[in-house]
Amino acid sequence: MWSYEIGKIKGIPIKIHITFLLVLPLFVFVFSVDNRFGFGDFPSPYNYIWGLVTAILLFVSVLLHELGHSLVAMRYGSRILGITLFIFGGVSQIEEISKKPSEEAKMAFVGPLVSFVIGTTLLALYMGLSVFMDGGIIRVLRVLGFINILLGAFNLIPAFPMDGGRILRAYFATKYPYTEATRKAAFIGKIFAFIMGLVGVFVSIWLVLIAFFIYIGASEEESATRMKSVLEGVKVRELMSENIVYALPDMRVSELLELMFHTRYAGYPVVSRIPENGLITVDDVVGIVTFRDLQRVPFTQREIVFVKDVMNPIVETIDVDNDVSEALKKLQGSTSGRLLVVENDRVVGIISRTDIVRALQILSVREET
Ligand SMILES: [Zn+2]
Repeated sequence: MWSYEIGKIKGIPIKIHITFLLVLPLFVFVFSVDNRFGFGDFPSPYNYIWGLVTAILLFVSVLLHELGHSLVAMRYGSRILGITLFIFGGVSQIEEISKKPSEEAKMAFVGPLVSFVIGTTLLALYMGLSVFMDGGIIRVLRVLGFINILLGAFNLIPAFPMDGGRILRAYFATKYPYTEATRKAAFIGKIFAFIMGLVGVFVSIWLVLIAFFIYIGASEEESATRMKSVLEGVKVRELMSENIVYALPDMRVSELLELMFHTRYAGYPVVSRIPENGLITVDDVVGIVTFRDLQRVPFTQREIVFVKDVMNPIVETIDVDNDVSEALKKLQGSTSGRLLVVENDRVVGIISRTDIVRALQILSVREET
């Protein structure tokens, strides 16, 4: 949400978030007026032009850092949903990060490594060229070189969501189970954030803000990992609704609303024929219709619009013996928010995102006690 795709690199969508557009002019301004890390001593309008060039190249550097993460993650079999440039920098949306400590560590480390390589290369160029050259390009090399080194170092801070936090967890994961490793890494991250915030009170408000951001990141990572571990080993069979109530394509919307009122499910498989003794095969199902689909039909048309006109024709299935985490993953891209549960071609149930979230809440309460 709030982001705009600007292109694709190796199939990865590159997106710009609205906060990025707000912060870009700020960066241009800072680069234009600062004397040491900018072009404040350049005559106007050159200081602004070089400021703009540097700001854009800075975000290209951030993009390269994120591409480093994404490409290594892809090599380990993860799917990359995209890279988004935010106010704070870049974020790679990686669907499932490898839990193998060595793979996660490599994936996390490659980002800072890219930043260090860019930084040292630019600084080396700066030192070589500044002997016989001067001007905008030389200054750009120096400024970007420093910032990239800073970016690499900052990301090695051992706290989530920084890359250093992941590297730390990977280290713990070689000794403890994954959830325990995450808890330990998050704990260290929180202590780090706390000290950083305390120092920040005396030094700079920026440090306090960054510390706050790290603290939140550590807590989020911890709860996300705990959620996943709670679901571990739970099968689709345990959470699905077994009593399938089906709809027919030629039902009127008003009829289905009546059926919904009596059965109180929010989604129904649409079948091409009335099933004999309740047996439905996958091939019988032509779509999924949900309460939301019906809501879109105006009141006056409920008698003349049929289920087949409003249903979602894309039917996604999952095997009854699959893990719930697998179902959750499939549901991420699903429009109807439901999967048909199948056992040898037979439809035996239906599972929705809401079913899983509710079970998750109950399970995590049970786990606490
Ligand atoms: Zn990174």
